[in-house]
Parts: sequence; structure tokens; C-alpha cells
Amino acid sequence: MTAKVAYVVDFDGTITATDLSTGLAQHFGSERFQEIEGLYRQRKIGMRDWLDGMSALLPADFDLLMKYVVDHAVIRPGFKDFLRFAREQGCPVMIASDGFGFYIEPVLERFGCLEYIDTIYRNKALPREDGTLRIETPYRHPACPVCGNCKPLHVLELKRQGWKVFYIGDGSNDRFGASWSDYIFARDRLARCCKEHGIPFNPWEDFFDIIRPGGHPAANAIAASPFCRPEGEGFLY
Ligand SMILES: [Mg+2]
Repeated sequence: MTAKVAYVVDFDGTITATDLSTGLAQHFGSERFQEIEGLYRQRKIGMRDWLDGMSALLPADFDLLMKYVVDHAVIRPGFKDFLRFAREQGCPVMIASDGFGFYIEPVLERFGCLEYIDTIYRNKALPREDGTLRIETPYRHPACPVCGNCKPLHVLELKRQGWKVFYIGDGSNDRFGASWSDYIFARDRLARCCKEHGIPFNPWEDFFDIIRPGGHPAANAIAASPFCRPEGEGFLY
């Protein structure tokens, strides 16, 4: 690949083997977790409402929350090799996360990966007066109510700067950012979503699949995303 490549990488379930925000919400949220998660899975609410609802179920005790995270955080195989590869090639790596976010730097640091990351776009977790969490979303879209962190805006900004954007993700919410990128690496729900909508993508299991030599990744050939218009009102589907 000779063009200037930048990587936009989801965190939960992509860099980590499991989704730590969902794990925390399930662990602390009991039956309310099922209710909110159900609405989200049926696409009756978006990620911003998910964050609002779930954060109110979590205690604002960061030591306790980090204990859960440390016990459950597993990095997907090949991630550090991928980071070294990207650095050798001069390709920036950006993390774009729409989870609780507070654990991202500590987890990356713990696994010796933080120094390789160029930018992290994530939400902020703060204590509420009632002792639960609240989530601030500094990277939300100005008009769209759906996501906490508008990943398509990060992708489009990189493209404006002349980068070819490789998007690596796993979740249905990644469809927004991925569909605006030049090359999609998709697994799990994101892969099913791309398939459903006829969007070309590259399946992956671990980060070795992304840096395997001699590969010619399939380009995202669609003219415009069926999911959102980040330069308009945002959400479509
Ligand atoms: Mg994910």
C-alpha cells in the first residue's frame, strides 16, 4: 500500500476481546441492563441513550470499576504487532470509542500499547451527585441524536487531510464510521451489517489478518453511506 494510510480503530470488542462497557453495565446494572440493551439491539434507542441509561446504573467508584476492567480486559491477538507495523509504515492510529471510555488509556498502558496511539477520541465519565456515573460526549455530532461519539466526522476529517482511511471495528454502531471510510475491516455485527447492505468489507479475526503481507484489501465501493449523513443531519438508518 503506497498511499497515505490512517487507521481508525474501535476499542471495545475490537482492540479488546470483549466489550468492557457492556460488561460493566451488565455486571452492575442487573435487570435494567437487559431492558436498555434490548431497546438498543432493536435499534429503538441509539448509543447516546444507551450511555445515559447505563451510566446511571454504575457507581462512580473508579477503583471498583477499574477492578472489574483489569479482571476482564484481554487484548485481541496481534494488536501490538499491528501498532509496530503502523508506526514503521508512518501510518497514524486513531482510536474512536463510543463506550464509557475512562478505562481506555489505563488498559492500553497496562499492555504496553499506549505510546503507539496517535489520538484517542472517547467519551468522558464523571460522577453524578447521586453517586452514579454520567457520560459527557465531547465528540457528538452537532445535530444527530444517535451516537455519543460521531465516528464518521473523524473519518471524514482524515479523508479531508488526504489520508486513505482504514476502519477496523466489530459492532453495529461501527457501521456509521466504517461506511464513510475507504477500506473496512469488519467482524461480528459490523460484518453482518456490511453484508446485509452489500458494502464491500474485509473480514478479520485478529490484528495479524490486518497486517498480513501481500493482501489486497477490498475497497469500500459505495458512493455514500446508507446509514448517516455526517455533513447533514446525521442519522438515516
Ligand atoms: Mg466495539
